[in-house]
Amino acid sequence: MEIIHVSAECYPMAKAGGLADVVGALPKYQQSLGHTAKVVMPMHRTKFLYDNEWVVEHKGNFGMGASRYDFTVIREKRNKLGFNLFCVDIFGLLDRESIYGYADDTERFTAFQIAVVEWMSQWEHQPDVVHVHDHHTALIPFMMQHCYAYNHLAQIKTVLTIHNAQYQGWMGWDKSSYLPEWDSWKGGLLEWNNMINPLACGVKCADKVTTVSPGYMQEIKYNANGLEFLFNLEGQKCSGIINGIDYAVWDPAKDTYILDNFSTKDVDEGKELNKKKLCDDFGFDITLPLFVFIGRLVGEKSAELLPEAIRRAFIYMGGKFSFLILGSGEAAIEIALQEMEGDYIGYYNTQISYNEKLSHQMYAGADFLLMPSRVEPCGLNQLYAMRYGTVPVVRRTGGLQDTVIDYGDTDGYGVCFSQASVDDILHAMSRSIELYEDETILHEVRLRMMQVETSWEKSALEYINLYLTIS
Ligand code: ADP
Repeated sequence: MEIIHVSAECYPMAKAGGLADVVGALPKYQQSLGHTAKVVMPMHRTKFLYDNEWVVEHKGNFGMGASRYDFTVIREKRNKLGFNLFCVDIFGLLDRESIYGYADDTERFTAFQIAVVEWMSQWEHQPDVVHVHDHHTALIPFMMQHCYAYNHLAQIKTVLTIHNAQYQGWMGWDKSSYLPEWDSWKGGLLEWNNMINPLACGVKCADKVTTVSPGYMQEIKYNANGLEFLFNLEGQKCSGIINGIDYAVWDPAKDTYILDNFSTKDVDEGKELNKKKLCDDFGFDITLPLFVFIGRLVGEKSAELLPEAIRRAFIYMGGKFSFLILGSGEAAIEIALQEMEGDYIGYYNTQISYNEKLSHQMYAGADFLLMPSRVEPCGLNQLYAMRYGTVPVVRRTGGLQDTVIDYGDTDGYGVCFSQASVDDILHAMSRSIELYEDETILHEVRLRMMQVETSWEKSALEYINLYLTIS
């Protein structure tokens, strides 16, 4: 089977969050199951782009609104990721340093999608499945089925995976002329709440829709930023497939970012050495439990609760822990977190940045990873933490609920709580400190979580089985 993944991100070419990790790993595992999986993404100007050799695969052009654009498709020459990686460059629109955040993102991602469909329409053969990811690529099924120029692609099956339903790519109807000429009877497929809603359109047009965990699939039927009714309506073709993690990248026994490699055989010693490095770097006391938070500093992750929760925890728990934060996001949250540094020198630090290496060192060296998320479609951080023997302290929501069992329950290894509130975070932190103080149980819990099967193998097969139901 030939599968074409289309995505805005793919690790290690360009990563803003979990989407990149999934698109960087799933095709590799699909290849190892004997299928041909390829990734097509925008050409972002990243280190990976400059560090690797590329060959030109195709040159073409298309119209968007009143403009015409030339585009070039390049392929990474050495197949370093274990699958063919194609990047689309559109002069003036895609060759930029950041993945998102530009005023013309609507134009950029619409143009990217048109270029992908235009390129595919020139192929002599047809792939079995076009698998699109999130709203940046969710107009592709519509274009393939209802834009006159691409009607001959209409029979190709499409799958949409939703990594986050909060972001939908809304655009006003004034931008409808950006799309290649479409069957005007089908305009309703583009619309949700009087706007063009690419994510909603993808849900309506794709043959199958998946979310990145079964728990999140249930959740979006009552909490999906306005699309709840649509998910109930289209429920028949929707399912949840939990993300795996790429053991080639996330393995404490081989990870080159961390100071000391370890496995279940020497987990306590290994974690201690990695913790020492972190504590030395940030001036923390190694004997205290070390909590970390890694992620986007936004309301979805309950990041705005962190300053008050940490301040109160320092008061209530008499400074019996250290806390390190790595992330970036809303300015007000970044400032509030940074302002606390002076008050808790030797116990608390915030790194406002995106730092892949430090994130690996934190998963390896921390005792606890806090995730009080309001919304967590799957969550990869808790899976990485588990693999590195770091206890996940998570709110029971979406994929967190599907992947973490409280250490008080049979076979448990995490600390779970119900509400995204300061009180629940405090209670969970105090339970974590209790766990830290019992070395025997902590050791058992670490061994248990490191052995939980979280690899992509099973999930990659689930996707293949899903494709088989439609092809
Ligand atoms: P998201 O909702 O952001 O996609 P996920 O848990 O699915 O959340 O994935 C987050 C991914 O991004 C993980 O690989 C995590 O380690 C990484 N990450 C998030 N923020 C940072 C950061 N500031 N520095 C390094 N890695 C980060």
